[in-house]
Amino acid sequence: MTKFFEVLRRDGPARIGKLLSEPQISSPALIDKDDYISAGSVYGYANVEDAIRAGEALRECEKLAILPYVPAALRTEPALELPEFETAGPKGVLVHPFSSKEPQQADVYVLGSAAALGNPRDLVAALVSVREKIAPDSALYAPALATPANLALLIYLGVDLVDGTRMLADGLLGRYHTRDGCWPASEIREPPCRCPHCQKLTEVQAAGEQANGNAAGRAACDRTDRIASHNLLKLEEELLSVRQAIRSESMREYVERQVRVAPDQTTSLRLLDAEHSYLEKRTPVMRRSTFFANCAESLHRVEVTRFAERVISRYTAPRSDVLLLLPCSAKKPYSLSRSHKLFSEAVGGRRRYLHELILTSPLALVPRELEEAYPAASYDVPVTGRWDREERAWLVGCLEAYLKKNSYGRIVAHLDGELEEAVRESGLDAIFTGGGTNGPALTRLGLALAEACRDAVKLPDLRLLRYRAHADFYFGEGAGDLLLAGKITVRGREIQDEKKRPLAASTPNGMIALSLAGAARLEPLGRYMVRIGDFLPKGSLLAPGVVEADEQIRPGDEVIVVGEKAFGVGRAKMSGWEMVRSRRGLAVEIRHIKGR
Ligand SMILES: [Zn+2]
Repeated sequence: MTKFFEVLRRDGPARIGKLLSEPQISSPALIDKDDYISAGSVYGYANVEDAIRAGEALRECEKLAILPYVPAALRTEPALELPEFETAGPKGVLVHPFSSKEPQQADVYVLGSAAALGNPRDLVAALVSVREKIAPDSALYAPALATPANLALLIYLGVDLVDGTRMLADGLLGRYHTRDGCWPASEIREPPCRCPHCQKLTEVQAAGEQANGNAAGRAACDRTDRIASHNLLKLEEELLSVRQAIRSESMREYVERQVRVAPDQTTSLRLLDAEHSYLEKRTPVMRRSTFFANCAESLHRVEVTRFAERVISRYTAPRSDVLLLLPCSAKKPYSLSRSHKLFSEAVGGRRRYLHELILTSPLALVPRELEEAYPAASYDVPVTGRWDREERAWLVGCLEAYLKKNSYGRIVAHLDGELEEAVRESGLDAIFTGGGTNGPALTRLGLALAEACRDAVKLPDLRLLRYRAHADFYFGEGAGDLLLAGKITVRGREIQDEKKRPLAASTPNGMIALSLAGAARLEPLGRYMVRIGDFLPKGSLLAPGVVEADEQIRPGDEVIVVGEKAFGVGRAKMSGWEMVRSRRGLAVEIRHIKGR
């Protein structure tokens, strides 16, 4: 828990925050020696007493003050321990990534031996373990590590502060950086950059080639300065792009693209994806941006695994004799697409006698009722009609798990191409109609359904099924039964109880917004609850007011706020574990609250 750092926005482990230093720093940021005072390494002092005195001297410091530290090589424990010091402003302490000791409380943690984390395995393990050890509302500073090429990855791993050390040092060594990588400047005939330093660089190069003696030496010096300045500028530019990616909630897409510059970075992203719970704990339930599933890594994204997991374990299909399998469409929600409108015409009045399941990559299965839930309504994939081995295995695995839980008397599969092939090969017992949207194809579909739906049971109102599915999807199994108990009427996007009181509304982005009456119905489940102290919050609930919060709450979740004096509903702005462990920041944006 910290006093001086607050996270304002999150997109996975990447955050925008503010460090209340003098002057205030907006993270992710590039900091330099003007932004902090560091007592430095203990080995820079004549004796330990001097180092301790230097730590004590930071007491009144209002800037970020980095306490004296004991350096240690990667994977070794520091040789000695220093006492803890308090500071007036933000406190920075060195943290050894693989140390078994718990780090002391601080606002900023400086990653020890950061520059030695060249190996992707070390880098990911170090950042994940440090981030899990320190408070969520503390900043992590990775010194001498950032380049324009790796910055996005570092921020996505959970780093908040970096510096230009490597850019300057590399400049002096004649290494030229862009976000695409690093080259020896001597190989660059035409700098791929229009910054003033690069324009000068071309002139200096020409002058250097003609000069000799001292003049040549000066030209070489000037040249490395120019490269260093260019490098730093590129890092600053990249930082702006990363900040924009976090703000527009498209950081994951940005990182997937950026790690392609080097196999090492792609390795790091894959290793990070293997740390599934680290990512899952930090991934919001909804993003404003379109989810792009562009590459192999996209298949392992939290949004994909979370969606599939919820469809298979939280959601229960309505009791139906007939299952209709359909392919997805480029337009979302699917119902609005041309192909699904044609399917719908072919299905006609039999719609109430069957259940529809859409097969797609990478989400695998989307029950019709959940087509508006995130990310089913807002994802985009490169469509070639090809289903590779990994996609097939994922789809078939999900379908088998789904059918184990939800059984149907008859299955009609209106699929074609490799998708049909994948489902056929899985051994599914279904009537395959060959898919397609032309006249004969739709006639085949119609005839197959006429046969399959004979004597089938009639399903409840599809609109009610939608609410039930969403309730289970967002609040877990059983939530739909509680929310929709008794006589329910649907009015527009809202459902009401027998007394015409609103219970919940579906939002345009596919979420559920509860009313207080709706929340009261779900309260017995004890899920997605945020327990607060003895007060009635107004407007928003800050982290210090939270006593207890459901572990499974993620940013964007609908939550129920409960206290001795209050009962309310709102939207979580941070994860449940973060609410409990943070001293700063907005925990819940409250929509309705009443005293009790
Ligand atoms: Zn340049």
